[in-house]
Amino acid sequence: MDLKKYIRSIPDYPKKGILFRDISTLIKDEIAFEEVINQIVKKSKKFSFDKVAAIESRGFVFASAVSYLLKKPFIMLRKKNKLPADVHSVNFNLEYGTATIEVHKDSLNENEKVLIIDDLIATGGTAEAAAKLIEISHAKVAAFIFVINLFDLNGTENLKKKYNVESLIDFPGH
Ligand code: AMP
Repeated sequence: MDLKKYIRSIPDYPKKGILFRDISTLIKDEIAFEEVINQIVKKSKKFSFDKVAAIESRGFVFASAVSYLLKKPFIMLRKKNKLPADVHSVNFNLEYGTATIEVHKDSLNENEKVLIIDDLIATGGTAEAAAKLIEISHAKVAAFIFVINLFDLNGTENLKKKYNVESLIDFPGH
C-alpha cells in the first residue's frame, strides 16, 4: 500500500514557505490508518521499551492505537499548561515558532525505556525536546518512530547521532 498518496500537501500553511503535510487525509481512510498503525507496531518490535509516549496532538492519534495494541502504558507529552499535576517543562524551537512541552513528573520511573511516536519530523526540535523531557524524568529513550520524515530538513540525521530513529514515509520539506 502506497501510504504517501494519502498525505495531502498544502502550500503556505500555517505560514508562507511551509509545505504542510496533512495526515487527516490518511486517518480518514480506515484501511490506510490500520496500515500505518501496523507498520509502526512492526518497526517497534526492533526495540525493547516499557512505555509509549507521544507529542500532542497528532502524535496521540497514532501512539494511543500502538500503545493499545502493544498493551504498553501511554504517556502524554503536552503543550504548556495543559497537564494538571506537577510537570517537567522543556522549551524549544519549531519550524514555525517556539513552544514548550511538558510531562507529569509521575509519568515515568527511573531507567524506564520509552518509545516516542509523532506524526512528523521536520527540524527535529520537537523530538529533541521530547527526549529531554524523558531524560529529565530519569527515564531513557528507546527509539523514535515518525509517520513522516521531511528528509531534507535533517532532523532525522541529527537525531540519529543520539537515538534510534525510524520513519514510514519520506517527503521533501519544501
Ligand atoms: P520539528 O520540531 O521541526 O521536527 O517539527 C515537528 C512538529 O511540527 C511535528 O509535530 C509536526 O506535527 C509539526 N510540523 C512541522 N513541519 C510540518 C510540516 N511541514 N507539515 C506538517 N506538520 C509539520
